[in-house]
Amino acid sequence: LARKFDVVILGAGAAGMMCAIRAGARGRSVLVLDHAKGPGEKIRISGGGRCNFTNIHASPKNYLSSNPHFVKSALARYSAQDFIDLVNRHGIAFQEKTLGQLFCDDSAKDIIRMLLSEMQAAGAKLELQSGVASVEKSADGFRVVTSGGETIEARSVVVATGGKSIPKMGATGLAYDIARQFGLKLIETRPGLVPLTLDPNLLEKLAPLSGIAVPAEIRHGKTAFREALLFTHRGLSGPAILQISSYWREGDEISIVSEPDRRIADDLKAARKANGKQLVQTALAEILPKRLAQFFAEKHPAATKLADCSDKIFDAVAASIQDWRIRPAGSEGYRTAEVTLGGIDTSELESKTMQAKSVPGLYFIGECVDVTGWLGGYNFQWAWSSGHVCGEAL
Ligand code: FAD
Repeated sequence: LARKFDVVILGAGAAGMMCAIRAGARGRSVLVLDHAKGPGEKIRISGGGRCNFTNIHASPKNYLSSNPHFVKSALARYSAQDFIDLVNRHGIAFQEKTLGQLFCDDSAKDIIRMLLSEMQAAGAKLELQSGVASVEKSADGFRVVTSGGETIEARSVVVATGGKSIPKMGATGLAYDIARQFGLKLIETRPGLVPLTLDPNLLEKLAPLSGIAVPAEIRHGKTAFREALLFTHRGLSGPAILQISSYWREGDEISIVSEPDRRIADDLKAARKANGKQLVQTALAEILPKRLAQFFAEKHPAATKLADCSDKIFDAVAASIQDWRIRPAGSEGYRTAEVTLGGIDTSELESKTMQAKSVPGLYFIGECVDVTGWLGGYNFQWAWSSGHVCGEAL
């Protein structure tokens, strides 16, 4: 005889576990299936092992989606503060690192333990190393067949299997396959929050800069992010680049403003007044990392001794540092992307419950939906919020 549950949740990640907690607490019988060995593997590795579990400033403007209004309901009904309250109830120590980003003091595992203990208290059952062979509609709900061949009956199915990012960690396209099977529209997926690569010529020129980090503003059209920029042996990385990567498309140019809080042309003029004998490169090295100063100075053969330079030369040097146009060749792709842009078209889902409008009883939550947050705790907050409102509706 097939086992029966009110709810089967596919995926024991951030969204699936939160949903299980809410649905279980409301008296639903809940089974969570995951093909991985452990729950919340992405939580475990997130934020350098300390999990940036939310952002105190999380609001709809921090999310990319074809429908920017879609996130409003879930974020309002389960906010960053709601998750912070949960973390506090479990006595987990945390701190704000920067820009509203909250990290565990000790370990991301504290968050996983918290979710597991809440699931247990809510009576939700977790079965690991159990993949999904098929999901079919039945007379009064759904039939889920596991990779082990067991058939499970459920009144509702919640798809929480995440996006395509980091296949090595077990990411699959299952959510998109299920959506397609039930006739739901998808927004094309792309890697997001991902380092950008450069063509071999430019990469060779920038090779000496590998390992250098500078404060920068990276611009793409009207979008700009002010955070660190990191030069790597593959191209450009660091939070500012990861942020802009979610907006960047193949062929687009980005503009890099290094040291955006300074006016480098004015700094050079002041240095000329103070010490005309100084070389431009030396003056720049007081503002920028030495190798970066050398790189920019070498682009301007006329920029030698400060006293010999006109204001025009300083303006040109400053522009190359503070409006440096680069056309990235590509991105590192799903291999290193922190998130997947696109996914289940939000027009197919009810924003208050995450239920598929055309398939009652079928729900999609978390990263598989066409909602992607900025870097900084926003993606977990979407997982918590969408998981919670779904659990309330089940
Ligand atoms: P996931 O957490 O990916 O969970 C999906 C679950 O489904 C997994 O357990 C997976 O094993 C399971 N699954 C997949 N396919 C199948 C299948 N076919 N059968 C059965 N089970 C399946 N976001 C932040 O907000 N802050 C951070 O600090 C942060 N750091 C990150 C660091 C890295 C390296 C990465 C990759 C991501 C990071 N993110 C961070 C993004 C965040 O991890 C995701 O947005 C979030 O985990 C999405 O939650 P989810 O529950 O939708 O999916």
